Order: sequence, then structure tokens, then C-alpha cells
Amino acid sequence: MRKIIVAGNWKMNHNYDQAKGFVEDLLPQLKEVKSDRVEIMIAPTFVFVQNLIELAEGSQLQIGAQDVSSHEIGAFTGEVSAQMLASINANFVIIGHSERREYHHESDRLIKEKLIKLLDHKIRPIVCIGETLDQREDAITQDVILTQLKGCFAGIDLADNPQVVIAYEPVWAIGTGKTATPEMAEEVHAMIRDWLTSEYGSETAEAIHILYGGSMKADNIEALVSQPNIDGGLIGGASLKVVSYLEMIKIASKI
Ligand code: PEP
Repeated sequence: MRKIIVAGNWKMNHNYDQAKGFVEDLLPQLKEVKSDRVEIMIAPTFVFVQNLIELAEGSQLQIGAQDVSSHEIGAFTGEVSAQMLASINANFVIIGHSERREYHHESDRLIKEKLIKLLDHKIRPIVCIGETLDQREDAITQDVILTQLKGCFAGIDLADNPQVVIAYEPVWAIGTGKTATPEMAEEVHAMIRDWLTSEYGSETAEAIHILYGGSMKADNIEALVSQPNIDGGLIGGASLKVVSYLEMIKIASKI
């Protein structure tokens, strides 16, 4: 059975004292949470990844990054490689977030190159996909999602890599307070699961986590994650405060 993943994406929030204070406050409270039910993850800014990994050592809190370079090594000013993240034992990396797609013009092809780097260095990828509001209103959500899936995963054998996580994040729901209804989200998640089944077989499709992201919070996580194909959340705003993040973890651990 897939555990529920509660993954926080801190984006460009929290200075070091705030990030450290958050983890120090959270860790003792995680002892009450059953680790056989949930996986708990936080992606701070690159500069704090190593410190937070050290702080979280021995706990069930996994620390990862929000992006990675598609290059292995060399003259790529400002980039951070998978090799570097592997050398500090980063647990996971988010790739293809809609903010990277929009503000940095990232394509599915580039995201696939990043995915390959993460797999080469044995870091768990969380691959984000999702349609914009215009695309949903034009009733092309399914085409958009299938194009993104093919673009990010073509030629990648997920049967060998069932640890890969897919995050379905409708762009119109990210940071807007508008959440997809559980039924709307489940429809897309089921379609993603069907695609995984047709490409890789049911064993792989059943092993892969598909997260929902888009204004998830304590008062909607239960309804969303209770859907058969929603295996947790990628959470922005509501992961920034210990109280709301912990509440979501506790709810998820009881589903
Ligand atoms: C996100 O950053 O992936 C996200 C879903 O943000 P929010 O929860 O704030 O909508």
C-alpha cells in the first residue's frame, strides 16, 4: 500500500533562523506520527538543504531541493547539480514546478533531462505537471496532461524506478486559494494512473505516488487524499507554519 506523502514546498520563503526554528519545533512533535502511514518531506531553498538534513538526521523528516541542473558538472554559473545534492544525501528533488515552467521557460524536454540526472544519482524526483486555467476552460486538460507525461517520461523505464513521484498541480490552483474539488482532482489522477498502467503495467502504476498540489490545507486534505488515486500533497503556503503543516500530517496519518 502506498504511504501518504505530505511534501512541503517552501519556495523562496524563510530565512535561516526561521527554517531552523521550524524544523526544531516540528521534530519532537513528529514522534507522535505513525511513520508507517505517511512520508514527511520539506524542500527549503538550496542554501539550507544541507543544514536541515543534518538537523533532521535520525527523524522521519526528509529534506530535499526545489530544482536541479540538467547538467552533470562544469561551467553553469548559479546551477546546482544532482551530484552535489547526492553528496549531501538530499532525499528528493522537485522538478518541473509550474513556477519554473512559467518564469524560467522550462520545457518537458528539459524536465526529462533533470529527471535522468536525478535517477543517475539515486535521488527521488517529484515531477510536477498541470494545466493552466485557459487550458481547463478550453477543455484540453487531458491532452495537456498526456503531453506532459509523454514529454517528461518518454524513454524512461518507470518499472525500474517506481520511487518516482508525480505531482498533479493545476496551475490555476497554486497559491490562489482555489482548490480543485476532490472529484476534479481524482479524475485527472485516475487518468494519470491509467496512462502509467498502459505504459508500464499495473504493478508499476500501483507503486507510483501521484500527489495533488494547489491550495491544499488542513481543511481540504482529508477529502482530497481520501480519493483512491490521490496519494498525498505537494503543499506551498500551508507548509510554511508548523501548526498547519503538522495538522495536515496528523490528518493524513489517520486516513
Ligand atoms: C506548490 O507550491 O506546489 C503549491 C501547490 O502551492 P500552494 O499550496 O500554496 O498552492
